[in-house]
Amino acid sequence: MPQSVLKATSEDIKKMKSVYAHHLTDTLPPGALFQAKIPGCTITAYQSGKVLFQGQKAEAEANQFSHLKAADSKSKKTPAVTKYSPPSGIASMSVIGSDEVGTGDYFGPITVCAAYVDSSQLALMKELGVKDSKGLKDPQIINIAKDLIKTIPFSLLVLRNEKYNTMQEKGMSQGKMKALLHNQVITSTLEKLDGKQPEAILIDQFAEPGIYFKHLAGKKIIRERTYFSTKAEGIHLSVAAASIIARYAFLIEMDKLSKAAGFDIPKGAGPHVDKAAARLIKQQGEDALRQFTKLHFANTQKAKKWVQ
Ligand code: MN
Repeated sequence: MPQSVLKATSEDIKKMKSVYAHHLTDTLPPGALFQAKIPGCTITAYQSGKVLFQGQKAEAEANQFSHLKAADSKSKKTPAVTKYSPPSGIASMSVIGSDEVGTGDYFGPITVCAAYVDSSQLALMKELGVKDSKGLKDPQIINIAKDLIKTIPFSLLVLRNEKYNTMQEKGMSQGKMKALLHNQVITSTLEKLDGKQPEAILIDQFAEPGIYFKHLAGKKIIRERTYFSTKAEGIHLSVAAASIIARYAFLIEMDKLSKAAGFDIPKGAGPHVDKAAARLIKQQGEDALRQFTKLHFANTQKAKKWVQ
């Protein structure tokens, strides 16, 4: 039976568990944190941090989590310092940061933002309340974002569901879409700086740098002084600012979708999302999902079952 193994942190495993929230099995093999069964694949996450994908669709399923390293690659426990690791002292530099929102949400778009924060504006960013957006509630995000968009150069792209679904059906991975979007917003932000060069460009890492650049083959790629890090929101305020603007844009889009649906469209990919999708199918027909959701998520099939 085909299988793939990934090595994941406990935080990653929590996220994966939520992705499979409604496919979890009732019993667990020894040492397992969760097990999920979907058509063509069984996913088992172990306390050791290994996540095993088994079945015909093992590889495709594991690829969804391509930002995690395969366990058999000779990766070290602590991430190796590479030429893509942020330089020491980056926190006080003038930096373009980029981040995206919405990749794990069944409803709504992917929003990607790059923002430039000059070293002279770092104190102002703190005054405006810019910090890791995971610690911020939606009303705070909205308030801070409204200040930010008047204060710093940034570029934002919104990949709405219909276009996302078309690209996905043509075989483009979410990883590639993200790479294209990040590269595009970084390029646009650089253009807004009137020739001024940032000391660094920091991408909140969603793929290995090598894979990121491979996705961009054939494009005009921003490569110079480009660094990658996971949890980059905590490394430079430009990434935190980009993330806040991206989340603000995502909230606006979700509001629009809620208006179009006539009820509150939920975030995430859990069972509440399946029910909302089922409600939408009942009211507007199955085709409506194309404008509202990331169709290839398992939620689509689950929602259809609710309708029957
Ligand atoms: Mn991110």
